[in-house]
Amino acid sequence: MNLEIHCASANPDKVREIEDLFREHLGDTVTLLPRPTEVPDVDENADTLIGNARLKAQAIVDATGKPAVADDTGLFVDALPGELGVRTARYASDRPEHANDPYGANRQKLLESLESQECLTPESRRARFVTVAVVMWPDGRELAVEGECRGTIALTERGEHGFGFDPLFMPDEFPDQTFAELGDDVKNRISHRARAFQELARELRDVSTA
Ligand code: IMP
Repeated sequence: MNLEIHCASANPDKVREIEDLFREHLGDTVTLLPRPTEVPDVDENADTLIGNARLKAQAIVDATGKPAVADDTGLFVDALPGELGVRTARYASDRPEHANDPYGANRQKLLESLESQECLTPESRRARFVTVAVVMWPDGRELAVEGECRGTIALTERGEHGFGFDPLFMPDEFPDQTFAELGDDVKNRISHRARAFQELARELRDVSTA
């Protein structure tokens, strides 16, 4: 059986990562189709990661009548409860520089917020990335999984790779290096998103071979 699933993300890095993981775990039993260009961007206004992932997947299911896969990620910082999480992408949207450089503005605000709370030790700068990934079918069935990566927020930005908070996030598996220093090969083995999509691929294998 071949299961065709539309990807709700048009981000080429994400699509490639999902394609690779699906191929590794599912061979040719699942084909990932691109996001239909005519579907407008979804307003991600849910108050949970799973809520936003469902909004993104449902929009594609409604437009295509085919299954869709979507994900949503948040950074949860222990010392700043309720401040990032589901709002991570918009964290520094109160600052004018967010309009031109959202990733840079978010990182700067995070460094300043932790410093202003005198969180200068590794123990006080604990954080975790969480990714929720969901597949929805036109008949209302869904598969939902979560992947997590725990780590520490660095005192300054380091490294050239990746995006978003990568120059600040040091995963527990490599506690002295940021994701941006480690590079994509290492990151894509241990990241929140990789873990969520590995789990999703395993669960999809059961569905596609049932
Ligand atoms: P999204 O749901 O994947 O768009 O992620 C929301 C926000 O979380 C992004 O705008 C980034 O700021 C941040 N983010 C998500 N994934 C990563 C990652 O792998 N590394 C660094 N930042 C990330």
